[in-house]
Amino acid sequence: MELKIYLNGKLVNASEAKISVYDHGLLYGDGVFEGIRSYGGLVFKLNDHIDRLFESAHTLMLTIPLTRQQLAQAVIKTLQANKLKDAYIRLVVTRGPGDLGLDPRKCKKATLFIIADKIVLYPEEVYREGMKIVTVPTPRNLPEALNPQIKSLNYLNNILAKIEAINAGVPEALMLSAHGYVAECTGDNIFIVRDGALLTPPPYAGLLKGITRACVMDLARKMKMPVREEMMTRHDLYNADECFLTGTAAEIAPIVKIDGRAIADEKPGKWTLKLMQAFHKATRLDGVRYRV
Ligand code: PMP
Repeated sequence: MELKIYLNGKLVNASEAKISVYDHGLLYGDGVFEGIRSYGGLVFKLNDHIDRLFESAHTLMLTIPLTRQQLAQAVIKTLQANKLKDAYIRLVVTRGPGDLGLDPRKCKKATLFIIADKIVLYPEEVYREGMKIVTVPTPRNLPEALNPQIKSLNYLNNILAKIEAINAGVPEALMLSAHGYVAECTGDNIFIVRDGALLTPPPYAGLLKGITRACVMDLARKMKMPVREEMMTRHDLYNADECFLTGTAAEIAPIVKIDGRAIADEKPGKWTLKLMQAFHKATRLDGVRYRV
């Protein structure tokens, strides 16, 4: 059966889900998006994702044509139409069709679409054995130029870094700020564990405030781990006891080598494994329930 896509209020077949070549989402990357997951008929952190989408849109002065509640209902309708209990959901709002100039006022109506599809994960061995990553030459966008907290459709900064990682033969990149501090990975946040404390860079380092990131920080506090947002350098990462990345799609993935330096004994760390377990439990208990 063909996938049904929610497009501007209607559910249409994927082959008929088309948008204008004049859409500024396509012409300029002018738009915002979210990646959301559902687990066993529960949409994880749906309201947090919708809030972040509204925040990104607010900064871009982009009016989302639905209320938060309507948007949540549209996500659930899309999941139900595709009979998906475990899904990856892509929620996109673009500036809509305009003319060939930049002026967003020419775009009279935002385009809103929702794709609910199956999730493609990193191979299982990444979670069992950990991942190797490298620092890439492309710095993360300057927050004072294009704030990485805006989850916009312009992902070229991240894509350049992803290409550099792939060219180096690893699946993910460590991105630094323009000043050389650790920021995040191309589509995931980064954490270290040092002396039993959980550390991650602060948003002003230039990163997306991940929803998985916030969840992992909460879970760590519940485990009585000290949790701190701190500026860090590659030296701090190389000499950490443990390292992992977090994101909606990747969940929690251990990192065991960075730029050829083994992290501790080059195995997923004990706190990382505890947090992975606690996270999986949370995804099965916590969320907006729907029936398929
Ligand atoms: N950083 C970037 C650049 C991302 O695109 C993502 C994925 N949305 C993340 C971090 C992780 O965020 P989240 O946990 O909300 O998926």
